[in-house]
Amino acid sequence: MLSFDKVQLSYGSFRALDDVTLHAKPGELVVLLGANGAGKSSMFLTASGLHRAASGSIRFGGNTELVGMKPSQIVAQGLVQCPEGRKLFPQMSVLKNLMLGAYVHRSDKVGNRQRLDEVLALFPILAVKQNDPAGSLSGGQQQMVAIGRAMMGRPKVLLLDEPSLGLAPLVVKQVFEVIQRINRAGTTVLLAEQNAFAALKIAHRAYVMERGRIVLEGDCDSLMNNEAVRRAYIGS
Ligand code: ATP
Repeated sequence: MLSFDKVQLSYGSFRALDDVTLHAKPGELVVLLGANGAGKSSMFLTASGLHRAASGSIRFGGNTELVGMKPSQIVAQGLVQCPEGRKLFPQMSVLKNLMLGAYVHRSDKVGNRQRLDEVLALFPILAVKQNDPAGSLSGGQQQMVAIGRAMMGRPKVLLLDEPSLGLAPLVVKQVFEVIQRINRAGTTVLLAEQNAFAALKIAHRAYVMERGRIVLEGDCDSLMNNEAVRRAYIGS
């Protein structure tokens, strides 16, 4: 569904992605673990066409090459990113923030209305707060707006960049339950996280990234029991 093959990315002389090879099969929920600065966001920004890979290939769906494609074309293909830090427009209403995610489908008003109903059913609190400024919501609710906005883009593959950042454990649990529901309803998910314990509990497979390289991959049970992973990301 989505595959990175030997992807390299540099910021000036600094190599942020070094021969990154990774894939997510249709219907999978794959976790990308890594500390601050490992390169997770760089991977997502490269897949979304916001950074240009120096070399390597990123293929989507059948065999579509994403490197060189415009970000709007990539979203229209069905690869949609929910960025780290949510990046909402705080003065705008929840509804307007959600509808921004449907921009590439703006000519399909009926489809967008239907999709909005689905997103509001997924996040009932957003239906209640749809006319409130997004910035007035709690952190967890704002994260739901950010995920809901990405869902308005009708992803086949959803890239979620650290959705648990800054949230209390109970809220993290709620957000991860929604991610699992989205995945079970058919959307392939690639989830970048530092919260390894919560992420490994809901995922099918995982990769570990360090300093721009994939250093480990495997199923969640084996990574959960891996001593180095436990020490670095789980803390026990
Ligand atoms: P974080 O959770 O902190 O965002 P990350 O795993 O997502 O971590 P990246 O944001 O991809 O990591 O950053 C990877 C490396 O690239 C870091 O060393 C970072 O400082 C550097 N970096 C990221 N963006 C830029 C940029 N625009 N210019 C220069 N260096 C950058």
